[in-house]
Amino acid sequence: MKECFSCTGCGKCCTGSPGYVFVSLEEIEAMALFLDISLDEFSKKYLRVVGNRISLKELLPRYDCVFFKEKKCTIYEVRPKQCQTYPFWPMHLKNEEAWENVKKECEGIDPRSPLPVIT
Ligand code: SF4
Ligand code: SF4
Repeated sequence: MKECFSCTGCGKCCTGSPGYVFVSLEEIEAMALFLDISLDEFSKKYLRVVGNRISLKELLPRYDCVFFKEKKCTIYEVRPKQCQTYPFWPMHLKNEEAWENVKKECEGIDPRSPLPVIT
């Protein structure tokens, strides 16, 4: 599936519009460990509650992910699964139209690529 994709590192998926990066406890622990800070400090600085889920914060005015600095992810090695799996999210793979739409958002997708088939 990933033959049709090569991330250019443009950072467009980390900024530009309101959204959520949902994280699990394991991911929170990995990020806090990577930054060498306590879970409490990490939570206060970087997390927000959204309903019954937890997301990374984003920063106005451009809705940058809180870890997006100088056009780079500053926690790339431990970025959440949601980030690792973009653009191959179920909502983008549900039909041709959705796949064509995400191609417009993500320059790393080969524009000639057909809708990937999940095996
Ligand atoms: S928008 Fe696509 S190409 Fe750009 S950083 Fe995100 S995944 Fe990579
Ligand atoms: S954690 Fe990194 S890859 Fe994920 S949205 Fe934030 S800056 Fe982008």
